[in-house]
Amino acid sequence: MVQETYQPALIVHGGAWAIPDNQVAGHLSAVSNAAQIGWQVLQQGGSALDAVEQAIVALEDHPAVNAGRGATLTRDGKAELDALIMDGRNLGLGCTANIRTVRNPIRLARAIMERTPHTLIVGPAADELAAQFGLEIVPPEYFITEAMRNEWQAHQQGGSDTVGCAARDGAGNLAAGTSTGGMTGKWSGRVGDCPLVGSGGYADNYSAAVSATGWGETLMKVVISKTACDFSAAGLAAQAAAEKAIEYLTQRVNGSGGLILVDRFGNFGAAHNTPRMAQARVYPDGRIEAFC
Ligand code: ASP
Repeated sequence: MVQETYQPALIVHGGAWAIPDNQVAGHLSAVSNAAQIGWQVLQQGGSALDAVEQAIVALEDHPAVNAGRGATLTRDGKAELDALIMDGRNLGLGCTANIRTVRNPIRLARAIMERTPHTLIVGPAADELAAQFGLEIVPPEYFITEAMRNEWQAHQQGGSDTVGCAARDGAGNLAAGTSTGGMTGKWSGRVGDCPLVGSGGYADNYSAAVSATGWGETLMKVVISKTACDFSAAGLAAQAAAEKAIEYLTQRVNGSGGLILVDRFGNFGAAHNTPRMAQARVYPDGRIEAFC
C-alpha cells in the first residue's frame, strides 16, 4: 500500500489585543522563532502534535509573550498558568490549569493526555504530577519578568499575549495547542478559555485545528475553537471559517479575541476583532511570514 503524503502546514499566534507599538518587535521575534522550531519538526517527519508542543515550548520560554516565563500576574502578584493540547487523529486531549511551578505547562498537558486516564488536572496536584513525570520544575518567581511586575503594579488591565499553534503534518494529521498566564489582575483560581476543550483550542482531522486567544470569559461562552472547526466541517474555506467564528463572538457576546486555524486541507485562516494579533505562518517553501 502506498502511504499518502500531505503538505505540512503550521501557524502560531502570540496573543490578540492592543499590542503597543513598542512591543511589536518582541512579539514578531517570539512567533517567528516558534514557527521556525515547529516547522523543523514537521520537516524532519515529526508529527503535528510534536510540532505544536515544540513551538509552544519556545513561546513559553520567550519572555515577550504571556505563557510560561513572562506570564501575566494575578491580583496578588502570582503567575498561574493554563495549557491545552489536542490531537486531531483520535481527539486525544490533555489540559491543565492553575500551574505554579512547571516550566512548560504544554508539556504537562501532553503528559496528562498520554500518561494519565484523565484529560484535565489542575492546581497543586498537577504541579506534583509534573514533578513525578520528571518535567522541569522551577520556583514560582521564574515566571515573573520585570515587565509583567511593572504592568501588575500599574494595575493595567488585560494586556494578554497567550500563545498557540495549529499544524498539519506530512501524514495529514492535525494538532493544536494553547498556553497562557491568563488575564492581568485575574482572581487567584480563575480559569479562562485556554485549558477548556473547544474554547482555547480544538483539533479534529475531520475539520480543522484551532488555537484561540483573547478575553477568555467571552471566548468560552461561544466555544470559539470548536465553533470555527464546525464552520470548517460545514464546508467554509479556512479564512471564512475563522472570520465567521470571530463575527459570532462579536455579535453574540460582544467578546474580543482572535484565532488561528489550519484546516484538513492544510489551508490557513486567522481572524481577530482586536487591534492586533501576533502570528506567524510557514509556507510550503519554508518561508515564514510574521504579522502583528
Ligand atoms: N484567553 C486567555 C485567558 O482568558 C488570555 C489571552 O488569550 O490573552 O485566560
